[in-house]
Amino acid sequence: MPTLSAGALKRMLHLPADVVIGTPRVERDRADREIVVVPVRPYARGMGRCAECGGHGRPYDRLPTRRWRHLDIGCARLFLEYAPRRVTCAEHGVTVAMVPWARRRSAYTYDFEQQVAWLSVHAPRSAVSALTRVDWKSVGPICRRVADDLRAEQGAGLFDRLRSIGVDETSYRKGHKYMTVVVDHDRGRVVWMHQGHGEKVFDLFFQQLTPDQRASIQVITGDGARWIDECAFRWCPMAERILDGFHIVSWATDALDKVRTAAWREARKQGVAKKGKK
Ligand SMILES: [Zn+2]
Repeated sequence: MPTLSAGALKRMLHLPADVVIGTPRVERDRADREIVVVPVRPYARGMGRCAECGGHGRPYDRLPTRRWRHLDIGCARLFLEYAPRRVTCAEHGVTVAMVPWARRRSAYTYDFEQQVAWLSVHAPRSAVSALTRVDWKSVGPICRRVADDLRAEQGAGLFDRLRSIGVDETSYRKGHKYMTVVVDHDRGRVVWMHQGHGEKVFDLFFQQLTPDQRASIQVITGDGARWIDECAFRWCPMAERILDGFHIVSWATDALDKVRTAAWREARKQGVAKKGKK
């Protein structure tokens, strides 16, 4: 009977390179459904890192074997199995050592959480829960962990090498509250948001930037509000102020509407007058 090498299985399961994989086995869960269990362990050099800071810690003890839910294999649920170590970190005391396949304090692997988070963007929580066979109460915390990581990843250097930015105010809670949003046009993403609007709020954005970061801004787009001009001039005097396309189109559409209404009214008046003559 042909067998699958550990390396091939590791690739199929998309496990990190620094993971050693054991022989998988098929078991039955409490509901008598088949599950696949794959024993794993981190490479020796990756073992014993503090889960809080990633620094090397001294071995403390070993916890009982536990399982992490991974992506399904065929129709069966698949679990990675490992007895995590605890280490003593100089800074954080005794902590559970980090593992390369899952986030701290999660019972799911990175890939599994990624899948649940992606599905949650496209489907209601009940559907995600049914499809992935995860308790619906766990879907929220999974999404939060993925979002936190994304934010930390994208947040680094968010204000570096800004060249062309746009600012706008938007209302929420049915127009009762306002917030100011700054976008990076080049990278197509939101870089800053703050409650309120006006000069003082926009000032807060520039205050967070270093002089170098402010100097790299060459273009500031927005509507025709004077507070944008004033802030732009104060913080980035060399930057060009440009009216953004959205507002120009919106103003032109409004103006066109006015002309159309006036023309329609005029035509109607003439029509009525003609009828009256008859
Ligand atoms: Zn630590």
